[in-house]
Amino acid sequence: MSDKQPQISIVIPLYNEAAGFNLLIDRLNQLIKNSEYSIEVILVNDGSRDKTPLLMNELALTDHHYQCVFLARNHGHQLALTAGLTYVNCSEAVFIIDGDLQDPPELLGHFYEKYKEGYEVIYGIRRKRKEGAVKKFAYWFYYRLLKNISSIDIPLDSGDFALLSRRVVDHLNAMPERSRFIRGMRTWIGFRQTGLEYERDARSAGEAKYTFKMLFNLAYNGIFNFSEFPVKFITRLGMLTMIGAFIFFVYVVIKMYLIGGVPPGYASLFLAISIFSGVQLLALGLIGEYVLRIYDQVRARPLFIVDKVIKNKELQQRG
Ligand code: UDP
Ligand code: MG
Repeated sequence: MSDKQPQISIVIPLYNEAAGFNLLIDRLNQLIKNSEYSIEVILVNDGSRDKTPLLMNELALTDHHYQCVFLARNHGHQLALTAGLTYVNCSEAVFIIDGDLQDPPELLGHFYEKYKEGYEVIYGIRRKRKEGAVKKFAYWFYYRLLKNISSIDIPLDSGDFALLSRRVVDHLNAMPERSRFIRGMRTWIGFRQTGLEYERDARSAGEAKYTFKMLFNLAYNGIFNFSEFPVKFITRLGMLTMIGAFIFFVYVVIKMYLIGGVPPGYASLFLAISIFSGVQLLALGLIGEYVLRIYDQVRARPLFIVDKVIKNKELQQRG
């Protein structure tokens, strides 16, 4: 790369990816060599406990295409990605991929063509998953649920694998929300967006770094950040309880006067309990709605803590 600004930045979060590291770098080097545009790579070490930081250190010191960001601890994939996005130097677009080669870096060319056509968000749509049946079903179900309940139109079966224009990344960087669901945020930003189908490969090496709990949290954030479903659900439940209680009350009154056989005091007791538990749920839902909004506003901690950054030499010289 000459000392001019790179056109494309590739951002890759890494958590304990030492096993597949060399293969990843080989594939990236090939891509850098064969592309007609200039590329920089930003690797983010998300508090790995294996040899990943060591390998990254060595690479950043010897190859100026690579810039390495080291987080102070494991912040999770979405925040590691967020950190990487704040260090990009590119003039045109940012390519986001996983460090396990599940998203083939070689597809950059196809994505870039779409960028040239004027699209600002080009996301990968997984045509086939090489994963277990249960995980596949969970993903399938979740994306469809989210689409139905969310307030924005998040595309089906697309993860964070995407090419984003520089301006979209600047907007993402300016969004201060703490619990980040990047695939939702990039949809929310807008501009011209399109999807490209691709076949998601199996992991190059090692185990999946997303544990069940992490996947659950990500899914949970998607629902809470991009829909009002939970709060609306509890409010509706409260209303339903009240309506149910009222109908039952009418039934008891009719039975009492026309048919008989209802012990005295039963109706009023039942009515008081059921109506008020409905009211309580309703009130909780309403308070929840406000807490949710305040919570959204108040979170003001930094999103991540950076330990150190090794910038590529040419950029360092330019300050
Ligand atoms: N990752 C990360 N921090 C974490 C977990 C994962 O940076 O806490 C990275 C991981 O190294 C990989 C990417 O996020 O580059 C996707 O992780 P993984 O392959 O485990 O997710 P999956 O493909 O199963 O969704
Ligand atoms: Mg993976």
